[in-house]
Amino acid sequence: MINIKDNLDKIKAQITQACQLNNRLVNSVQLLAVSKTKPIEDIEQAYQAGQHHFGENYLQEALEKVEHLSHLEEICWHYIGPIQSNKTKQIASHFSWVHSVDREKIALRLNDHRKDAINENESHLTPLNVCLQVNISEEKTKSGISPEQIFALAEVVNQCDNLTLRGLMAIPEKNANKAIYQEMSQLFSELKSRYVSVDTLSLGMSNDLAIAIEHDSTMVRIGTAIFGQRNNK
Ligand SMILES: *Cc1c(COP(=O)(O)O)cnc(C)c1O
Repeated sequence: MINIKDNLDKIKAQITQACQLNNRLVNSVQLLAVSKTKPIEDIEQAYQAGQHHFGENYLQEALEKVEHLSHLEEICWHYIGPIQSNKTKQIASHFSWVHSVDREKIALRLNDHRKDAINENESHLTPLNVCLQVNISEEKTKSGISPEQIFALAEVVNQCDNLTLRGLMAIPEKNANKAIYQEMSQLFSELKSRYVSVDTLSLGMSNDLAIAIEHDSTMVRIGTAIFGQRNNK
């Protein structure tokens, strides 16, 4: 049986080690626990162990979890999956972060729906935190914009009152070489120099956490190494 708390401790030790190797502050890298396909009980266990940020890819599944766990006051949900335009309303009203924005149309729809959600629920909703997904390995099967498209889309998001442009997200192909990570780091640094709100490079998963942290990742998205293998969906 897997022990989620032990796994979280191991991942945190790996993050600490990678930070120390690269002269980075340990708290400069945030851990996002990717709980897709995993049951509510696993998320509760991780929460009890102090993990508050969770990432989900499949909207229907995610909405059930968000609702079931709404009593956990500090839980923070990140949407990291592909976005269809007919799903933007649900995403804008139930998540704090979206890592996978890759089209102007999607950004504008999220902005409109977030505005409605904020108006309906004045008390605690803030603008939606947005990362642009970059298809850095230029894989045909992956979503995301090409590096040249980043700055135009960033400006669209920046103009949206109900979105906060936080940074970039990427999923490098398996065994990508260092140049890919260097390019992401470069693009992030350029974006940061243009927008004060940008502080997030969402890069690194169970298998490439160390190289991602070496290249300035500020948020690693870890699934398998915390919750064990997923049944394929
Ligand atoms: C599934 C997923 C992850 C987690 O991957 P692991 O290899 O299980 O750590 C991270 N990011 C995205 C976008 C994912 O879809």
